[in-house]
Amino acid sequence: MPAPDHIIIIGAGVTGLQTAISLLTSPSTSHFKITLIAAHLTGPVKHGLNTYSSPSCGGYWHSQASLSEKDAKIREWDQRTYEHWSQLLNGEGEENGETYEDRVKKYGLGFKDSQYYWLQETPETEGHDGSGIWFKDVVKDFEVVDLINGSQNDDKLRPPPGAVFGIRYKTICINTPRYLEYLMETALKLGATTIAAELNNKRGLDGIVLDAKAKLREETKVREEDIFAVINCAGERAKYFLDENESAKLRFITGQTLLVKGETEMAGTVVGFPEEWGILYIIPRPGTGMSVLGGSRFDMRVHDWDQSVAGNWNATMQQRMGIWGFAREISIPKESSSRLKSLHFDIGAISKRVGGPRVQVEGKEKVEGVWVVHSYGHNESGFQNSVGCAEKIVRLIAGL
Ligand SMILES: Cc1cc2nc3c(=O)[nH]c(=O)nc-3n(C[C@H](O)[C@H](O)[C@H](O)COP(=O)(O)OP(=O)(O)OC[C@H]3O[C@@H](n4cnc5c(N)ncnc54)[C@H](O)[C@@H]3O)c2cc1C
Repeated sequence: MPAPDHIIIIGAGVTGLQTAISLLTSPSTSHFKITLIAAHLTGPVKHGLNTYSSPSCGGYWHSQASLSEKDAKIREWDQRTYEHWSQLLNGEGEENGETYEDRVKKYGLGFKDSQYYWLQETPETEGHDGSGIWFKDVVKDFEVVDLINGSQNDDKLRPPPGAVFGIRYKTICINTPRYLEYLMETALKLGATTIAAELNNKRGLDGIVLDAKAKLREETKVREEDIFAVINCAGERAKYFLDENESAKLRFITGQTLLVKGETEMAGTVVGFPEEWGILYIIPRPGTGMSVLGGSRFDMRVHDWDQSVAGNWNATMQQRMGIWGFAREISIPKESSSRLKSLHFDIGAISKRVGGPRVQVEGKEKVEGVWVVHSYGHNESGFQNSVGCAEKIVRLIAGL
C-alpha cells in the first residue's frame, strides 16, 4: 500500500499559508499534497472585534524575543523571516527585470526605517547601548538613538517626551492584505487546494480531526488511509478544541488600529505608557499611500472591552501621535497636528499563549489515525516568525 501523502492544514491565516508553502517547497516534504481547510480563506473581515488575526496585523518586523534562553527558538524564527523577506525584496535568485517597486507591490512588503522608543526601563534597555537587543547584528542599519543631542530639529526624528531609550534600524513593513493574497496565490500555484468550511470545534481534538478528515473526503474523494497528518494553525480559536489545561494557557488580547490616509516615511513605536495595555505605533503600508495607527494590548481576561474604550482609545492614540509629531507629514493641514484622516477602524485578536507559541507534535501517538502537529499562540509575532516557524514544521513532519 502506498504511504499516506496528504496533509490537512486547519487555518489559512499567515501561519497556515506559510506552512503550506514551506512544506510544498522543501525537498523533504514537497511530495505531500496539501489541503487548507478554513472558516476564513483570507480577504477582509468585518469591522469590529475579529477573532481571525491575520487581516488585522499592523504590521512590521520588530522581534519581541528577549536574549533569554527560553526565547532561542523565537529568535531563530524571527531571524529566518527577516532574511527571507529581505531576499524577496532584493530579488535574490530572480532574473526577471523587476524593480524594487515592482517587488513591493507584488509581495506586499517593503523596507522602511523604524524607530522604537521605551518610556520605561526593561531588560531590552539595559546598558542603554543596544546590548539588550538581540537582533542588533541581524537587521540593517541598527543604531542607538542619542536622546540628548540627536535630531531635536527634525519632527520625524525627535524622540518622544520621556523616552529613556531608543533605537533605529531598517525594518520590513507589511501591506497585510496584499501579503496574505500573495501567500494564497503562491500556495495555490504550488498545488495546494482549499476548502472553505467551519469545522466543528465542540468535540475536542479528536472531533476536529474527524471533521477535517470527513470534509476532505466529501470534497475531494481523498481516501482515509491517504491522510498523513493534520496541522493545527487555527490561531485563537484553537482553544475551543484543545484540552482544558492547554486552552487555559491561551489569552485573548485585542489590538486596536486605525488605517489612515498617507504613507509615513518611517515606522515609529513608543512602549511603556502608564496604562499597561498602551502602545503607540505608526506603520506605513508599503506602496499603498496608507499607514496603520495603533494600538492596544487589552487582555480580555483582565479588562472589559466595549465601544467606549474603543472610541476613547482612538482619540488618545491620535492625540499622542500629535504630541510626538511623528506622523506630521501625513496629518491634515490647518487642523490640529494630531488629526489623521481615518479610513478604517479595526479591533483584532491577538492569541497570546503562556510559555510562547506551541509548535510541536501532539503526544507520541496518532490521533484518529493521523499525526497532529500544532502551530498556534503566535502572539504579536505571527507574521515576523512565520517563515522560520514553518521551517520548523517541515522538520517535524519530515521526522514523523
Ligand atoms: C492589531 C494587531 C497588530 C499586529 N501586528 C503584528 C505585527 O506587526 N507583526 C507580526 O508579526 N504580527 C502582528 N500581529 C499578530 C499577527 O496578526 C498574528 O500573530 C497572526 O495573524 C496569527 O496568524 P494565524 O494564522 O496563526 O492565526 P489567524 O490569522 O487567526 O488564522 C486562524 C485561521 O484558522 C481558521 N480557523 C479557526 N478555527 C477554525 C475552525 N473551527 N474551522 C475552520 N477554520 C478555523 C480561521 O478561519 C483562520 O483561517 C498583530 C495582530 C493584531 C491584532
